[in-house]
Amino acid sequence: MRTSPFTEEHEQLRAAIRRFVTDELAPHAEAWEQAGWIDDWVWPRMGELGYLGLAVPPEYGGQGADYWATVVLAEELPRCGSGSLPMAIGVQTDMATPPILKFGTEEQKQAYLAPAVRGEKVAAIGISEPEAGSDVRAIRTRARREGSDWIIDGAKLYITNGLRADFVTMVVRTAAADSDDPWSGISLFLVDTDLPGFEVARKLDKVGMRASDTALIHLDGVRVPGEALLGVEGQGFKQIMWQLQGERLIGAIGGVAAAQLMFDRALAYTREREAFGRPIARFQATRHRLVDMATDIEQVRQLVYDACDRWNRGEYAVTEIAMCKLAAAQMSFRVADEALQLHGGYGYSREFPVERAWRDARLARVGGGSDEVQREIISKLLGL
Ligand SMILES: Cc1cc2nc3c(=O)[nH]c(=O)nc-3n(C[C@H](O)[C@H](O)[C@H](O)COP(=O)(O)OP(=O)(O)OC[C@H]3O[C@@H](n4cnc5c(N)ncnc54)[C@H](O)[C@@H]3O)c2cc1C
Repeated sequence: MRTSPFTEEHEQLRAAIRRFVTDELAPHAEAWEQAGWIDDWVWPRMGELGYLGLAVPPEYGGQGADYWATVVLAEELPRCGSGSLPMAIGVQTDMATPPILKFGTEEQKQAYLAPAVRGEKVAAIGISEPEAGSDVRAIRTRARREGSDWIIDGAKLYITNGLRADFVTMVVRTAAADSDDPWSGISLFLVDTDLPGFEVARKLDKVGMRASDTALIHLDGVRVPGEALLGVEGQGFKQIMWQLQGERLIGAIGGVAAAQLMFDRALAYTREREAFGRPIARFQATRHRLVDMATDIEQVRQLVYDACDRWNRGEYAVTEIAMCKLAAAQMSFRVADEALQLHGGYGYSREFPVERAWRDARLARVGGGSDEVQREIISKLLGL
């Protein structure tokens, strides 16, 4: 049997995060869902507690912990009762800022990473566009040089934290691809959101993740200095593919955690709810359904933990991470759907948390690279 990857220290961290989530986040989840907005204080508060920089080195204000500490945070945040919160925080900690640590200059780390770790700056990641999501190479947002500056024009769509972000880690085309390297010509930029020409055109209305703000952003002649370029000019595609590994893994961890919560709720409900003179958990059909859910969750958890172990050891496990992303996205929605079914009519009512989890879970099959895109990645890497 696999030994637990979590040390005593991780378990202490888990207990502290769980207290924070239960006492300080969960009481607000309903109001955030209604308002379509997570209160701003969450960022500085989580920064103060050290939760926005668990894996960041201490010189940038982080805790210098291993990846398993990040896993603990991702497993605990869904307990707040809104999938939007883990998503918003995950964008900050595991999507928009890791490229700064990996590819950034010392100045960029001090100017963007350190304040993001403190919760003073909110970060967003800007890849998708109105005309390009799965096909990142088809992006149309462009930057052209003007002296030592760059001028950015284009649009970014579905940007999580887009209404509140102080900066966006953005994927931009800076040149046509070389004929010998189809992945070249794309670069990453750190774009401040208060620059002239940067405009939040619209807040998007969504099926789920309703507390999370999602924006359509227009960029009209946004002038950024040469120092806004993140990493190597023209190598942004490869850099963002590295970023997507962390994004997909954190999403998969959260998906397993959310599914576990759904299972726990369904189990408790079916033990309480009676039909035909007995708790519905005592019907064989219900028991088998619960067993299938538990088995589904456990097998994906082990797949995800294996990928976490590889990531923690610095392995670039693209196939395994794509498998995790695919398996977790499908499993978490399946489990949420079964949990809704087991709640009967109450499952479909807005008064029980199961319907929100069901709506929230649906995103994972699309966001961060759809099921189909994961299958394409896996099939290429398997040589199919
Ligand atoms: C709530 C939400 C939050 C998001 N947050 C962010 C964010 O913060 N930053 C960001 O950059 N993006 C974000 N996204 C965008 C998300 O990553 C994209 O929606 C996703 O990558 C899919 O792109 P698309 O919507 O353009 O779909 P498309 O690429 O148009 O795909 C449409 C359909 O075609 C399928 N398809 C595409 N290519 C293939 C293929 N080769 N083979 C088979 N089928 C294929 C897809 O799987 C999908 O089913 C968010 C999206 C949502 C809904």
